[in-house]
Amino acid sequence: MFEKILIANRGEIACRIMKTAKKMGVQTVAIYSEADRDALHVKMADEAFLLGPAPAKDSYLKADLIIELAKRSGAKAIHPGYGFLSENTNFANDCEQNNIKFIGPPASAIDAMGSKSAAKEIMEKANVPLVPGYHGDNQDADYLSTQAFAIGYPVLIKATAGGGGKGMRIVEDKKYFDEALTSCKREALSSFGDDRVLIEKYLTKPRHVEIQVFADSHGNAVHLFERDCSVQRRHQKVIEEAPAPNMSEELRNKMGEVAIQAAKAIGYEGAGTVEFLLDEDGSFYFMEMNTRLQVEHPVTEMITGQDLVEWQLRVANGETLPCEQAQLSINGHAFEARVYAEDPDQDFLPATGMLHHLKTPDPSSHVRIDTGVTEGGEVSVHYDPMIAKLIVWDTDRNKALARLRGALHQYQVVGLKTNLKFLSQLAGNEGFIEADLDTNFIKRYENSLFTARPSVDERVLSVAALYTMLQQKNNEHASDQADPFSPWDSVNGWRLNEDNHHDITFVDQHSDTEFNTTVHFRNDHFLIEIDDQEFKVSGELNEHNLYIDLEGAKFNATIVSQDEELHIFLQQQDFVLSVKQEGLELLDSDANANLTAPMPGTIVSVAVSAGDTVEAGQALLVMEAMKMEHTIKAPAKGVVTEVLYSEGDLVEDGAELVSFEAE
Ligand code: ADP
Repeated sequence: MFEKILIANRGEIACRIMKTAKKMGVQTVAIYSEADRDALHVKMADEAFLLGPAPAKDSYLKADLIIELAKRSGAKAIHPGYGFLSENTNFANDCEQNNIKFIGPPASAIDAMGSKSAAKEIMEKANVPLVPGYHGDNQDADYLSTQAFAIGYPVLIKATAGGGGKGMRIVEDKKYFDEALTSCKREALSSFGDDRVLIEKYLTKPRHVEIQVFADSHGNAVHLFERDCSVQRRHQKVIEEAPAPNMSEELRNKMGEVAIQAAKAIGYEGAGTVEFLLDEDGSFYFMEMNTRLQVEHPVTEMITGQDLVEWQLRVANGETLPCEQAQLSINGHAFEARVYAEDPDQDFLPATGMLHHLKTPDPSSHVRIDTGVTEGGEVSVHYDPMIAKLIVWDTDRNKALARLRGALHQYQVVGLKTNLKFLSQLAGNEGFIEADLDTNFIKRYENSLFTARPSVDERVLSVAALYTMLQQKNNEHASDQADPFSPWDSVNGWRLNEDNHHDITFVDQHSDTEFNTTVHFRNDHFLIEIDDQEFKVSGELNEHNLYIDLEGAKFNATIVSQDEELHIFLQQQDFVLSVKQEGLELLDSDANANLTAPMPGTIVSVAVSAGDTVEAGQALLVMEAMKMEHTIKAPAKGVVTEVLYSEGDLVEDGAELVSFEAE
């Protein structure tokens, strides 16, 4: 086995690979960018080297420097993880030329699958079923339109160099074809530097079912069953599971065999995933092959009991596969939920910032968390905003799903917006429980997935009021260390008033509703007045944990205060309240405010000019940031007074884009 390997990646996958390397007694070398100086993967490694500034092109994509560092550190192999250089043919070649083993398939196999259309051609020859479509060289618009017509609408236009759900356009009718082709080509050119496209029949209710394959250098190949990744948003996976629900043994074997056939057709070695669309009638079609470890590989590990990274290292070391097909079997059911820093209420805009408070479910044989961040860490604009992968296992699907719900409820993040609530809604959704799965799942159940937030009631207000009082008491005890600028201390009247009471107003940050409370001090408890009702409340505060007695009902709550806001986690729900008191005015959101870039990016298109009158919610311009397009919309009806950027411009985080006057 290799004595030492370099991991050419960051975040959760770098940490994940190191875990297995450590278990196998293999030393690890990490690389990092300036933004990742204090990152977990750097701390976990036996040694770590700085690459350069934060942007990936100056750090994690610096192929020559990475090979240089591998040589300097004595690493005999490089694991590329996923993303970054993992599917870069030149990098794989350069590794081999420098006598460093690339832990992945031969460069020729990466190359063969690199273009979606070339891959299809190879698969067609190997008798792997394809979605009806055109994947030839002719890129003439009229010709492509004729092909689309022959395939039959709806069709899907795909960038041949595409990935990550980008560069795809669904076209419902001939009259929209030309426009969709132009915009798809534009996105393909800017994202992948290649504007070639292919056209496929758009299946309206398919499932995304993929097969994990493994091959060694001795001609052996096996599959490790399937994963269902149908729950997607913008063609990106959100929750994955294994095995796929309602899969017959016969279909499983057939898809597995075809996947092995696909791998053999390109002389594959190592871990790979063959992605299929599975149609309602049970027919399945090759979509593409990912020539690397997938993000969702843990669900396969959970149901097979195999460590796929260990398999990768063994195969790269020239060993035979650890198992034959007959030795592999499925045990139980596993789910993976991708926990992202993003704001579901703002069309899943990626969020950045510091993980001020982070509490994860306890890991066990049922719950696994793959992450690259810890409390106090940061999600920056430079990389994928994934916080963690939450993986659960149990003996059957229902039990595993209950585990997933339980674990999601235990997850607490304060400091940036996350999709945790959305994931919880998904895991509790009736359709999901019944496995009514296809790639339009989220669209179909949209109404129930974005339900209204729970309302703030006396439980929440009692927790908030009691916390505020006890916190104040603690602060007084420790007044020497108290922060003189803290809003908790800057308010007059914290001393008991003559009639022993204190007024506090809480504002629910979701509904903007104000709640007035009056706290009366009693000997061994507080009386909290809410809406002319009185509640007898007492409790103990232990850091973030409040054990509260509300009129004899006892329960626990977690409270984290940050920037004048209280984040309250209470009985599987969470709330954000701000505290409003005399002399402490909260800033109102200003509809006249000029519209700014939520993060650094590029302006893709501008839809308005100075002087235009616009309706609330109307699109003003589109920018691209963190690999996604974001539409900047009018906050209210009004007039655009100035547009400060044009198409193609680079903008900084917070840059004013459009000035606007609300009517
Ligand atoms: P990417 O490489 O960008 O991930 P894929 O080709 O893997 O793109 O497709 C991503 C997703 O797009 C699939 O999982 C599926 O939901 C959807 N998709 C792709 N091709 C089709 C098709 N022909 N019909 C319907 N949906 C499709």
